[in-house]
Amino acid sequence: MTQRILEPHEIQARPASEIPFIRLPQRRSLFADRAARLEHLAQGHAMQDYLGFIAKVARAQDRMLAEIPALALPPAELLAQSREHGMPPLNPHSVRRDPLWCDALRRMLRNLEPQVEGAAKSVIKRLDAERDEFYEAQASKLLAGITLGLDLATAPLIGAGLQTYWVHLVTALGAGAFAPIDAPSVCPACGSRPVASVTRSGGPENGQRFLHCSLCSTEWHMVRIRCSSCESTKGIEYLVVEGGAEAVKAETCDECGTYLKILYMEHDPQVEPTADDLASITLDLLVADTGKLRSGQNLMLIHGDSEE
Ligand code: FE
Ligand code: FE
Repeated sequence: MTQRILEPHEIQARPASEIPFIRLPQRRSLFADRAARLEHLAQGHAMQDYLGFIAKVARAQDRMLAEIPALALPPAELLAQSREHGMPPLNPHSVRRDPLWCDALRRMLRNLEPQVEGAAKSVIKRLDAERDEFYEAQASKLLAGITLGLDLATAPLIGAGLQTYWVHLVTALGAGAFAPIDAPSVCPACGSRPVASVTRSGGPENGQRFLHCSLCSTEWHMVRIRCSSCESTKGIEYLVVEGGAEAVKAETCDECGTYLKILYMEHDPQVEPTADDLASITLDLLVADTGKLRSGQNLMLIHGDSEE
C-alpha cells in the first residue's frame, strides 16, 4: 500500500477537529510491540544485551498488564476536579498508589527471573526480596526525577512496574476521562514528560506529530516544527547520525537549549518511542556535543548520580 505524504501546508490546513488530541495506548499490544521492536533493534547493536534484556522486561510487562488485579482507580471527584482546572488527572504526585501494584510487580519479576542470566538475574532476585516500603520509596524518587538515593540497578524494573500500572489506569479510565491541559509539553493524562515524539503515517492522523508519554504511553498532539519543551517555533533544527536511521532525528531548540527525538513512521512504520530512543544513544552523544540538553525521559535508562 502506498501512502501519499501530505505537504506541510496541507497538514496545517486540516481542520483541528479531525485530529484527536490524544491517542491512548493499545492495552493488548503496546508492550508486545515494544518487545518485538527491541528484539529487532538489538540484532548486531552495540547495546545488544541491554536491548535484549529490556525486550524481555517488555514481554513481562505485557503479561503483568494482562494479569493485573483490579487496582483502585482514582476517585471520580479527583478526575472531575483535574479536568476543571486543566490539570492531568493521573499525575503521579496526586494519585495515591494502590499498594497491590507492588505484588503485581513482584509477580512480573518472578516471571522474568528464569529468562535472564548474570547480573540482571541477581538484580531481579534482590528486588523481589525487598519490602513494599522499598518499592514505594524508589517509585516516588523515580517519578519525581530524584536520583539521590535512587537504586540505579533496580530503577528500570521499578519503572517497568509503574509504566504497566499507569497504562492500566489510562486504559481503564478511557479517553473520555482526559481533556487538554494548560501545559502542552507534558502528558495530559499523567503530567509526565515525553520519551520522544512520533510523526504518524496513514489514516486521519497522517503526517501529524504526537508526543509519547514516558510513563503511561498516552500520545498527545503537537504541531510539527515547534519545540516540545518551550513551544518556540524559531531556532528548531533536526540532527541525524550520518549514515544512521532516517526514521530517528533529534529536534533541537536554540531558544531553550533542549532536544527531543522525533520518529518518522513514513520512514519506518514499526518505530516505537521507548525502544527507538534506547537504540539511538549515538544520536544523544552527537547532540550532547552541541551543548543541548535532553528534555525527554526514558524510564528504561536512568542517568544520574545516586550519591552526592
Ligand atoms: Fe502519561
Ligand atoms: Fe525550546
